[in-house]
Amino acid sequence: MYYEAAEGLARESLERLQTERLKRTIATCLRSQFYSSRLGALGLSPDDFNSPDDIRKLPFTTKDDLRGNYPYGLLCQPMDQYVRLHASSGTTGTPTAIFYTQNDIDSWAGLVARCMYAVGLRKGDVFQNMSGYGLFTGGLGIHYGAERLGLLTVPAGAGNSKRQLKLLRDFHVDGVHIIPSYALHFASFLKQEGIDPTSLNWRFALIGAEPHTEEARQRIQELLGLKAYNSYGLTEMNGPGVAFECEKQAGMHVWEDAYIVEIINPDTGEHVAEGEVGELVMTTLCRTGMPILRYRTRDLTRFIPGACECSRTHRRLDRITGRADDMLIIKGCNIYPMQVEQALMSMPEVAQNYVIELFKEGEMDQLRVKVEIKEDYFVEDMRALTSLQKKITARLRDEILVTPRVELVQHDSIPKSEGKAVRVVDLREKP
Ligand code: AMP
Ligand code: ZN
Repeated sequence: MYYEAAEGLARESLERLQTERLKRTIATCLRSQFYSSRLGALGLSPDDFNSPDDIRKLPFTTKDDLRGNYPYGLLCQPMDQYVRLHASSGTTGTPTAIFYTQNDIDSWAGLVARCMYAVGLRKGDVFQNMSGYGLFTGGLGIHYGAERLGLLTVPAGAGNSKRQLKLLRDFHVDGVHIIPSYALHFASFLKQEGIDPTSLNWRFALIGAEPHTEEARQRIQELLGLKAYNSYGLTEMNGPGVAFECEKQAGMHVWEDAYIVEIINPDTGEHVAEGEVGELVMTTLCRTGMPILRYRTRDLTRFIPGACECSRTHRRLDRITGRADDMLIIKGCNIYPMQVEQALMSMPEVAQNYVIELFKEGEMDQLRVKVEIKEDYFVEDMRALTSLQKKITARLRDEILVTPRVELVQHDSIPKSEGKAVRVVDLREKP
């Protein structure tokens, strides 16, 4: 019924397993520079953790902690034990990198395989991974999980709809992994090409990496003629495979034998009442290379009360409803407005003011940056302006990994708001 027996563990056994793994994780953490000094200062040792709830004795770990201890500060093993690293998308300046031992890669692949099995994919099915490979975990993370399950895996990568379609047809693909915005774009492409999506063999789409609504899921299902399952993950917690919908499509089971999951009030750090929305905080229980304790994901969600009809016992998370910080996700890339500001302010031609606009083009989210140019550079020579616009576009693309539309505007022409500057304007229609 399940891919692994652990999916059906009774709560008591699950908590016993969590406690045992938490103790082991704390012992491992004490081998890293960062946690040995942080936990050492508090006098904490594995003996202090005798139930999953004891996790509250630990301080939170934040993205700034990861940045501040980049690259090796959280590593717990000798360097020759590591076989891979990934980095969170769109972060430059001081990025965050996650290092994996062979144990970590293996257990991650197992978790992803478990997710794929839960939606109904089976050994022998053909699976096309339509998300980008590289430092982004949606490529290799999904890939290794699919292979683990025994799927014939097509590493298509992102983009190039014509080629995607050819692969889907030629190899009779049963399931795909695709980001929701590209799924909607792909639906328009199929329509343009006059292709009936039900003529394809596909039945499953795993969609994730960016926020989307239930309405968007319904649209994807209708337009592509398949079932779409929400898939949640983040690089700091391995990547995809953290929480996943089962065939019931009723919220995402979060694998509690691999993570301790908390939901807190982002302002107070206290646990919210069961079923209330708050910030998701996660602790890895199976990682040996770079375990992370009480990580503030900044993602807002809630536990769905009650049991799932599929009888898996691991609790379910509701769809991510937003962020506790200002991070934007465009085309699957994480973007902080501050990155845009840093890039712009490093250019001598740019004046003080800019505004980031989010808008929809067809089904895809796009980014426009209006930039005020200093008087000396705002000349009548079209060629000079075009070349400046190209230069700014390239600089931003290098920083945020997405190509924005750049519009040059005159000095002092962007309306100033009173009080805090409005840096991001969202022109996308809300469902
Ligand atoms: P990355 O580490 O670059 O893969 O980005 C992880 C972030 O992507 C998460 O913290 C979420 O903000 C977002 N994300 C991933 N999966 C989903 C999903 N299914 N729904 C909403 N947001 C998601
Ligand atoms: Zn279920």
